Amino acid sequence: MGQKLTIFGFGSQGKTQALNARDSGWKVRVFLRPESKRIPEAEAEKITVFTDPVEAARQTTIAVMLLPDSIQPEFWEKYLKPNLPEGASLVFAHGFNIHFKQITPRPDMDCLLVAPSLQGDGLRHNYLQKETVPILTAVAQDATDKAYRLVEDYAGAIGGKNVRIFPSTFKEETETDLFAEQAVLCGGINTLIKTGFDTLVQAGYNPEIAYYCCLKELRAMAEGLYRYGIQGLRGRISETARYGDLTRGPRVIDEKVRHTMKVMLDEICSGKFTEELLKEKKSGWPTMKRRMAEEENATIETVRKKIEK
Ligand code: NDP
Ligand code: MG
Repeated sequence: MGQKLTIFGFGSQGKTQALNARDSGWKVRVFLRPESKRIPEAEAEKITVFTDPVEAARQTTIAVMLLPDSIQPEFWEKYLKPNLPEGASLVFAHGFNIHFKQITPRPDMDCLLVAPSLQGDGLRHNYLQKETVPILTAVAQDATDKAYRLVEDYAGAIGGKNVRIFPSTFKEETETDLFAEQAVLCGGINTLIKTGFDTLVQAGYNPEIAYYCCLKELRAMAEGLYRYGIQGLRGRISETARYGDLTRGPRVIDEKVRHTMKVMLDEICSGKFTEELLKEKKSGWPTMKRRMAEEENATIETVRKKIEK
């Protein structure tokens, strides 16, 4: 039987995965809701777009779930569970909904994880430039005896020739992903930048200069870290910067921060964070809305608007 691949969603991951898989020679279709503004974008890439979720599900044997995580459970219950054909495969890019039991695949189906360790843009860039594409993979359910093969094939389709597969589990991918985004990549770094910026501004320095040195200069540092690692980067900064890094860094990220990180990891593993997140979603994201509004009005955003105008 010829496989029919449909990617549900055409956002950050959906678009990249669709283009990469297509460029790897796969026939790709995409599902978008009828009111989506991204339909012309997908059509411009000559990708067939379904807008009826029931029809999309019925005509799919490999369903790649790239809708937002918070939308997936309801979409699964309403459209995919009742309409995907017998023996279809369900592919995730993040383990959250399976690990935390928000989605239970039908027993006749394969359930796979093909989780790129790259944002959408980075995944496309590395695929096109033939740079390494790290992908965590796992199989939660192998009903057809073909799940492991499909994991490898689909990872190859979106990762290209330089794919680097890390056999993992839904649990490991979910917990490490949540922890890294909270403690380091998003929560950690954003708060570090803002606190550094505020410290300079409150001490009377020019906010625009503070913006450049605490935020804009990060790009070169991130690229250096990506290429050379921490020690490699240290070999490329000035002596003074290196001395400040080694002696002051551990004062910023001190034992208290280490302890907090461990508590945060425990909250992720125990399900406490997820419980809080699902409650927040259910009540219409009140904390998220309030915090976003506060951050929108912060000095650093006013300065950004002035600089980027
Ligand atoms: P995005 O928010 O970028 O894209 C979501 C897509 O779903 C869009 O095409 C959007 O289209 C569509 N969509 C949103 N709401 C609905 C709805 N109610 N009904 C139907 N379609 C809807 O998501 P991401 O690409 O960030 O995330 C997708 C998955 O990939 C998640 O599981 C995430 O954890 C995972 N992932 C994401 C990474 C990333 O780079 N962002 C990295 C690794 C994994 P429209 O609004 O136009 O209708
Ligand atoms: Mg994540």
